[in-house]
Amino acid sequence: ADAAKVARWAGPGATSDGHRIDVLANVQDGASAQSAASNTAAEGVGLFRTELCFLDRDTEPTVSEQTHIYSEVLDAFAGRKVVIRTLDAGSDKPLRFANHPDEANPALGVRGIRIAAHDSGILDRQLDAIAAAAVTSQAQPWVMAPMIATAAEAESFAGKVRERGLTPGVMIEVPAAALLAEQILTHVEFLSIGTNDLAQYTMAADRQSADLAALTDPWQPAVLHLVARTAAAGTAVTKPVGVCGEAAADPLLACVLAGLGITSLSCAAAAVSSVGAKLASVSLDDCRRAAAAALATADPAAARAAAAAILR
Ligand code: PEP
Ligand code: MG
Repeated sequence: ADAAKVARWAGPGATSDGHRIDVLANVQDGASAQSAASNTAAEGVGLFRTELCFLDRDTEPTVSEQTHIYSEVLDAFAGRKVVIRTLDAGSDKPLRFANHPDEANPALGVRGIRIAAHDSGILDRQLDAIAAAAVTSQAQPWVMAPMIATAAEAESFAGKVRERGLTPGVMIEVPAAALLAEQILTHVEFLSIGTNDLAQYTMAADRQSADLAALTDPWQPAVLHLVARTAAAGTAVTKPVGVCGEAAADPLLACVLAGLGITSLSCAAAAVSSVGAKLASVSLDDCRRAAAAALATADPAAARAAAAAILR
């Protein structure tokens, strides 16, 4: 019966009592965007990981090459929301043309937005390409920066994005940014929580280490508390706060995130239907009760069990 429900899910994302939550797809190029648009009921793109387009390049793609690629993604979701993330180079995704310094701890090094402080040209040219793609497309792209740690970084990024007539947001992946979400929201129009990195940096555990997988579990109550306070900051000023990490692909956790006040969930295309179907089967009130129960626990297994007892 569950499988049939999943197959039938056709959007839009909402709880059984009609509380809207956008269910979006994570994509990495034109082809994956086309496929998400035609094979799922995703209402848009919540995370376009632009760095994945360029992992094999020795030299920086030109503005016109970039414009072409970004246009393909925007055109796949014409008329819908597309969140483009600026290059998240470094650490697990080094780009050869980004001139990464030699670092002992790349996950704590010059990655994501930090590269702009080093060399702002790469970011400026990427934003020019996104702006050019926006002009010829029907979609209204939102543009966000990865690895923001301070309000000053958010302010500087937002200035560059607004200058080009685009809508700025930032990712919340560093605990410092979650703790200062109110201040960051004075500079940007939306937030998107990257639970993969937020768990890594909250728990001080490498997201790529199989030995530490229990620590980087997105059900970790400490991570859920940071999600809760970020969502509350958005609710207070009625600005959207999404989740685009792997947490959003777990249907039960997706309901908990909705209960914490998250306004959109973006996950791998393969998970869109099961997340949408699960959300449609529960009330917002139950999501809120499950979220409160999960927050009151002290470990991931207890958090999951507490949520499951209410949402199953
Ligand atoms: C995340 O960190 O949760 C995220 C969505 O970004 P990435 O996985 O690309 O680092
Ligand atoms: Mg990340």
